[in-house]
Amino acid sequence: MKKLALLLLPLAASPALAQDPVTAIKSTEVVPGIHLLEGADGFAGGNMTLLTGDGRHDRIVLIDDGLGAVAELIYAKARDLAGRDVDFVINTHVHGDHVGSNAHFAENGAVIFAHDNIRKRLLENPDAAGGPAGLPEVTFSDEVTFHVNGNEAFVFHLKKAHTDGDAAILFRNVNVLVTGDLQFHGMFPFIDLDNGGDVDGYIAAQEQLLAMIDDETRVVPGHGSMTDKEGLASDLDMLRRARAAVLDLVDQEMSEEDVLAANPLAEFHDDYDWMFITTERMTQTLYRSLTRSRTR
Ligand SMILES: [Zn+2]
Repeated sequence: MKKLALLLLPLAASPALAQDPVTAIKSTEVVPGIHLLEGADGFAGGNMTLLTGDGRHDRIVLIDDGLGAVAELIYAKARDLAGRDVDFVINTHVHGDHVGSNAHFAENGAVIFAHDNIRKRLLENPDAAGGPAGLPEVTFSDEVTFHVNGNEAFVFHLKKAHTDGDAAILFRNVNVLVTGDLQFHGMFPFIDLDNGGDVDGYIAAQEQLLAMIDDETRVVPGHGSMTDKEGLASDLDMLRRARAAVLDLVDQEMSEEDVLAANPLAEFHDDYDWMFITTERMTQTLYRSLTRSRTR
C-alpha cells in the first residue's frame, strides 16, 4: 500500500505529464544566488531551489530535484545556472516529485542529505529516487546547518505533518524560507496520511514556520508560486477553517459518506480545488485524520 502510494504520486500529481512532457526548466531569482526552478511548460515536480556560488570554489546546493522523468533537464538547468555540478542535494520529503532525480544527481557527484525517515522509506522503494543510487547518503533526525557561499542554510525537521520525514530550510542571512510540501500556496494541501502525515501536525508545522519568519521573508512553497508570510498565513487560515468545518460534522457522529455529501468545504472550492487535491479529497483527508486521532 505504501509502495503503491509512493509510485503513484508523481503520476497522479502531474496531470500535465500525461499530455505534454515538460521540455524546459525555468528559473526565477529569489534573491541573488538563490533560484527557484520549475517546469517552464508543464509539471517537472515540486518547486526546486538552487543555491549557486561563484562557479569555482563554492558549494552548489539544490533543495529537491523534481521528477526522475525529467532528471536530465533539471540537471542541465542547475549546471547552467551554477557553472558546475551540484555538490549537495537536500530532500524535503520522500515523494517522487521531490526526490525523483536523486540518482541522476548522485551519479554526477552530488551527496544526498535527508531526514532519517526518508531513507527508511526509500529503502523499501528506491525507484521513487531513481534507483538505489538515489538513496540519501547522509541523514539527520532533527536539524543540520550548511555553511556555504557565505550563507547559512538551517535545515530542520517538522514532526508528522505532510509526511513523517519533512524538513524545511531557512536561509538565515538572506531571509528565504523553503517549505517543501508544508505549504501548497493557494491550493488544498496534500497531507499524506499513509506516509506519516497528519492534519493537526500540518497545522502545527505551518504555525512553527510562521513564527520563524517576518514580513520581509521570501517563502518558496513546495507547490504554487513564491510568496511571503502573509501568503503562508492565509493558507494556514484556510486549513484551520476547513478543519473546523469538518470537525463540526465529525462531532455530530456523521459518517465519511455523509460528511462528503454535506460538502463542508464548499466555500473554499473555487479558490483551492485543483486536479490532485480536489475539494472531495481534502474533505476525506480531514475526516480521516480527525477521526483517526480520536480513536487512537
Ligand atoms: Zn509531497
